[in-house]
Amino acid sequence: MEAASRLVTEALEGSRYALARLISLIEDDGVDARAALAALYPHTGQAHIVGVTGAPGTGKSTLVNQLAKALRARGVTVGVVAVDPSSPFSGGALLGDRLRMRDLAGDPGVFIRSMASRGSLGGLARATGDVVKVLDGAGFAVVLVETVGAGQAEVDIARTAHTTVVVEAPGLGDEVQALKAGLMEIADVLVVNKADRPGAANTARALEMVVGRNASRAAAGEDGWAPPILQAIALDGTGVPEVLDAVAAHREHLRATGLWVGRERARVETELLNALRQEMLDRLLARVRPEQIQAWVERVVAREVDVYTAVERLLDAGGR
Ligand code: GDP
Repeated sequence: MEAASRLVTEALEGSRYALARLISLIEDDGVDARAALAALYPHTGQAHIVGVTGAPGTGKSTLVNQLAKALRARGVTVGVVAVDPSSPFSGGALLGDRLRMRDLAGDPGVFIRSMASRGSLGGLARATGDVVKVLDGAGFAVVLVETVGAGQAEVDIARTAHTTVVVEAPGLGDEVQALKAGLMEIADVLVVNKADRPGAANTARALEMVVGRNASRAAAGEDGWAPPILQAIALDGTGVPEVLDAVAAHREHLRATGLWVGRERARVETELLNALRQEMLDRLLARVRPEQIQAWVERVVAREVDVYTAVERLLDAGGR
């Protein structure tokens, strides 16, 4: 506890070492992590959380790196959380991190962290949300959350952002990868990256057709925002300022319409229900002794009772 509150104080004062230690603590999810998050929480709520998602190979990492550089050029502090569920590695030691760091090394206005597999995607989503809170609380004005847009769990992580940038690229097989992954519904800004490659204009047109439908729905009052479709070349930074402008315009839209608070409330509700579910599960399971479970397994195997009846009895017994 003591150590956790000291880390929070030092991280709030700008210590990068304390910040890194704090994030490791939160990834480990112990009692100290809870205490640290509680102490940090009053300082959160200021950052613009921007999700960047898309199929592997579209150039997300390259784009995120450029966005971070461009934000710094505008004097904006930025935290980056790169989520890679397929990677067993975590912390600051990823090769990708070292490559990213090369451009941004030594700049106290940037903090980059990779998040890797935590055994379950739900666990990864929780840890990611908590690390975003730490960077928010530590005062980074923009937090970029990079996720692979592959499945529902990744979409859920992206959904926790205020603004979601969906990245596409030509020549990845399917015309529009984001359609397949169900990312179109959550896209606030669409970027066709690799605009130097043939087929970029086709991909942009395909997106326009899809978004054309979305936009008319939006105009009908859903959230009043028509996602712009931008082209970029992340390799050399072409189009990156326009992406940042669109992201900033979306933030203004959220603020002006009150959707900012609405999204916050929706996120908190999801987070609270998930945490409650997990806590209830943990507490109930903690009351059941392994021998009891074994005893019921034997009875189910012997066809004395079925699984559901066994569960009812276990719960009725309250673990006694
Ligand atoms: P991610 O898997 O979506 O994070 O994609 P990466 O950022 O790792 O990029 C995948 C590959 O595409 C790398 O070899 C990049 O150098 C390359 N790449 C990224 N952006 C561009 C671009 O604008 N044009 C071209 N031609 N290649 C790019």
